[in-house]
Amino acid sequence: MTASARLLIVGPQGSGKGTQGVRIAEAFGIPVVSTGDIFRANIKGGTELGQQVTAILDRGDLVPDELTGEIVRDRLSQDDAQSGFLLDGYPRNVAQVGHLDEFLSARGEALDAVILLDVPREESIARLSLRAQEQGRSDDTEEAIAHRLEIYENETAPILAVYGERGIVDRIDGIGSLDEITERITSVLAARGLTLAS
Ligand code: AMP
Repeated sequence: MTASARLLIVGPQGSGKGTQGVRIAEAFGIPVVSTGDIFRANIKGGTELGQQVTAILDRGDLVPDELTGEIVRDRLSQDDAQSGFLLDGYPRNVAQVGHLDEFLSARGEALDAVILLDVPREESIARLSLRAQEQGRSDDTEEAIAHRLEIYENETAPILAVYGERGIVDRIDGIGSLDEITERITSVLAARGLTLAS
């Protein structure tokens, strides 16, 4: 059986959305489309895009909507994303929700579910500081972390109201073991009739 699911995972930085996104995408046999990963790969590879966005990422600011939208449209147009995908990190503000809606509705598609990984602010700060020590990500400085959390609260959290009106948001408690949280996510998706690849 081939599973089809068009998913978005949202949560503050440090909520574990990257890790859970990969697990859920694997379970459904769909690709993860992570804008942060795409930007970091381009920075690492020294591409023109990478050079354009390095300073923006280091500050913890958002890359302009137009540029980000173009990257996502290109990625979602690839063959492996035709019967499903899991978006991680996009859309990140209400304008980007509009861009994604336009793109998907032109294909006769829409998101099936938005998984909100809920963790208290203190917990995400603690996890991010730990990741900074372990991975040395250049945007995991104390200043950039605080800035990214502020952007999350001011710009990203409002997208949940928009998707909430459509009845597609599933709030998941992000505190627990990796397996417990994956299980919580797969159960709420199953309740929506979204079943795993077998
Ligand atoms: P992430 O790995 O999702 O935390 O993203 C890392 C960084 O990439 C963010 O702090 C932004 O600078 C940039 N970025 C990722 N996704 C987006 C987006 N949808 N819109 C604008 N900038 C983004």
